[in-house]
Amino acid sequence: MSDAPAPDGSSARIADLIADGPTLSVEFFPPKTDEGAEQLDRTVDELDPVGLSFVSVTYGAGGSTRDRTRDLVVRLNAERDYPAMAHLTCVGSTRAELAALLDDYDANGVHDILALAGDPPVDGSPAGGDFTYALELVELVRGRGSQFSVGVAAHPELHPRSTDRAADRDHLAEKLRAADFGVTQFFFDPADFTTMVDELAERGCTTPVLPGVMPLSNPAGVERMAAMSGATFPADLAARVEAAEGADRDRVVVDATVELCRTLLDAGAPGIHLYCLNRSPIVLAVAEALGLR
Ligand code: FAD
Repeated sequence: MSDAPAPDGSSARIADLIADGPTLSVEFFPPKTDEGAEQLDRTVDELDPVGLSFVSVTYGAGGSTRDRTRDLVVRLNAERDYPAMAHLTCVGSTRAELAALLDDYDANGVHDILALAGDPPVDGSPAGGDFTYALELVELVRGRGSQFSVGVAAHPELHPRSTDRAADRDHLAEKLRAADFGVTQFFFDPADFTTMVDELAERGCTTPVLPGVMPLSNPAGVERMAAMSGATFPADLAARVEAAEGADRDRVVVDATVELCRTLLDAGAPGIHLYCLNRSPIVLAVAEALGLR
């Protein structure tokens, strides 16, 4: 892992860190309550010894956490010695709104953006705004200057709205070519990741893609998320987690997570992005076992 300064003298961009990988990073979400904010502050402190490569902060559907995401990203980026990446969605927003937010990030030293489409309204009403696909947001960020590094989402098991595998991979390859790196939706079978990487390579796309790995600490919650994101739910592993108690339960979760991460790194993944749900214990145990601290 590198902490070399970027050419502009600021801390390194995530694209550079991935090039020097393997990286270890985590995703946070902006807390809604004071208790949640205190929990996240504790987690951030507890993760300090890991020497994370970077963190990312989610953006609520339709911009519902716009200010909380922005404030958390700016604060983490300023206070910690790793970059914080802002997730940003474009569906339902105007070009002017997002340009203003990007300029605000720029002015506050935040230069890592995960450019996402976001989901259209669940009731089927028109999303409005100036954007349809994430690629258009990548282009908007690129237009704000070369100080930004841009990541995009990838779905190893296809995006849930994709009806055609080849078309899904064609659109993903085109988007990744315009970006610096990708981060995947969670998955539990490493073959889903390696097959996606092969399919991208067949299209001449070699942009690095970080696997997003979800420890199965909360099987019921992950089952709900998997249903929404089109990921296959690992029923056998969930049954083993449910059958274990206390420290044994954590051990089952950590062992399964470490095994998946090792397989992915051995297969050439440029790093691991952990969905940590604002908690530290599993990340600490996984980082220790992987020797990525
Ligand atoms: P796109 O890349 O635009 O793809 C969406 C669909 O459109 C796909 O089916 C694709 O094949 C298709 N498509 C793309 N281009 C074309 C084209 N030219 N013609 C026809 N079809 C096309 N959501 C949030 O609201 N907040 C978050 O913080 C957030 N973080 C995420 C982080 C990660 C790592 C991932 C994997 C997802 C995240 N999401 C988040 C979810 C994401 O917003 C949704 O999956 C959304 O439905 C699609 O976003 P996308 O960026 O993948 O879209």
